[in-house]
Amino acid sequence: MAVLWLARKGWLSYQAHKTRPKGWGLRISEVTMARRKLVYEGKAKILYEGPEPGTLVQYFKDDATAFNAEKKAVIEGKGVLNNRLSEFFMTGLSAIGIPTHFIKRLNMREQLIRQVEIVPLEVIVRNFAAGTMAKRLGMEEGTALPRPIVEFSYKDDGLGDPLVPEEYIIAFGWASQQEMDDIVSLALRVNDWMSGVMFGVGIKLVDFKIEVGRVYDNEFPRLILADEISPDSCRLWDIETGRKLDKDVFRRDLGNLTDAYTEVAKRLGVMPTNVTHTPTKPTLIN
Ligand code: C5P
Repeated sequence: MAVLWLARKGWLSYQAHKTRPKGWGLRISEVTMARRKLVYEGKAKILYEGPEPGTLVQYFKDDATAFNAEKKAVIEGKGVLNNRLSEFFMTGLSAIGIPTHFIKRLNMREQLIRQVEIVPLEVIVRNFAAGTMAKRLGMEEGTALPRPIVEFSYKDDGLGDPLVPEEYIIAFGWASQQEMDDIVSLALRVNDWMSGVMFGVGIKLVDFKIEVGRVYDNEFPRLILADEISPDSCRLWDIETGRKLDKDVFRRDLGNLTDAYTEVAKRLGVMPTNVTHTPTKPTLIN
């Protein structure tokens, strides 16, 4: 009975993961999978059927991937941190009137979310040149952009999520013109709020990616913020030192990823109190 309760709380799976010798028994996802239906497994998250129709449970894994999964590692504690950070951002955005899929956090690694029909786009907002934009245009990373720029990639791992113009999106019916207008305005509102919050804790929001989904109220589709917002999907630089506090630490081998995410969580006051952080080196799993 106690075991069942612990498993429900997600604690058992977390502890099993922490203490299990390499290669022993069940993985976290398998422990959880035994008790509910898996809907989708992505690179960093798993979706399970939720307790009520129209809901899902979003489970944050410790897996980190980069360059379309060419580089992989398991980074202990990342899922716990991203669960908390995404909760923090989604709750804050919801408080300023931005609709999100987040309902509530269930435990250290899981949150209850609304099921959406995902729009197959990665919506990227950039305040400073970095990453693929800097490379594509030969710009120095960190160059301030004249205004926030919103761009779109088509979500397709096989194609490496190619950058697409709005013209394609509308022509291929991935989203309507009205939805694109709504997506841009939603993305810019997210950017305003996120930039301010990060600036308040000494962090520059260089860029980030969001995803949106449709929910149907009666027959009418409405767009809401979906997926996650975490240092996995943002570029966050310390304002004073320029230190990177996001997934580039993993992509570019710049140090310990958990330390960087923990720093963000600490500054925002969302450090989970019951997780003891044992610094570990990323383990290659490919
Ligand atoms: O790589 P790129 O410069 O295009 O990334 C822009 C932003 O979008 C970065 O914050 C990156 O972390 C995020 N991103 C993401 N998932 C992807 C591609 C980019 O979260 N598949």
